[in-house]
Amino acid sequence: MSTIEIVGGNITIIAPERNHRPVGISHRTKRKWWQFWRRPPGCPFCPGQEAENVDVLRQPHPTQKHTWLLRIIRNKWPLHDCHEVVIFSPSHDATLAQLGSQHILLVLQNLRARVKYWHNLGIRVALFINNGRLAGASQEHPHAQIVGLPAGQAVRFPDYGQAVISVNQTTLCQTLIPVVPEFDFETIIAPRDPVPIWEASDELLAGLSADLGRVLACLESQEPGLPYNVIFDPETSRIRVTGRKYARAGYELATGCRIIHIDPVAWADQLRAA
Ligand SMILES: [Zn+2]
Repeated sequence: MSTIEIVGGNITIIAPERNHRPVGISHRTKRKWWQFWRRPPGCPFCPGQEAENVDVLRQPHPTQKHTWLLRIIRNKWPLHDCHEVVIFSPSHDATLAQLGSQHILLVLQNLRARVKYWHNLGIRVALFINNGRLAGASQEHPHAQIVGLPAGQAVRFPDYGQAVISVNQTTLCQTLIPVVPEFDFETIIAPRDPVPIWEASDELLAGLSADLGRVLACLESQEPGLPYNVIFDPETSRIRVTGRKYARAGYELATGCRIIHIDPVAWADQLRAA
């Protein structure tokens, strides 16, 4: 049975049984011929295609001279003067969870440096990961984006009030599940003391990396290729993860209701056990 929750005027229908209905169209991609070589032809983010984009920075690989660890490029079709793409690694199909928390820390340190650069120029940015077509990605190769905001705008996170389940707390960070989420698998990873990301310590970034790695590994273990977004709030260093297996469909557009297919309490239990 589904339950109906009304928070801040928004109606959310929590209907976990609908996640078990047969779906005849898959978001999963079939194994392609090029995956035997681990690299698709023409991916602009793969090693060998560097000339296709303008570098912002390239982090050298410590042992392999001819490749790199992480690369930041200018977006070829920018939304704003500030629009950069952070390519997590040379591997075309290694997700952040697979790269591990040490590599996630390297990514967060580079995001911190770029946000600081734009902050010093007086530009506020959005910072996010689109993973999978249903989450808005136009390239498969795992990456994040940094995009300048229009003047006066800021990144907005929902106000969940006190209606959150705490699944993990350390001295620096906490992982919280909203009882009435906006999206499936919605999870917040937050510093205990909010601090702008450009002022975050390496210690705090390491704590956030460990928690984000755990959440993404648990999300990816649900089913292969599950689409998701990761959104960062640069002003507080909070991180929001949203599962995107299901697109918003006609009923939601017709009524403004949100349909949630994953029981938030069950998701919290899974994360606690992870
Ligand atoms: Zn690639």
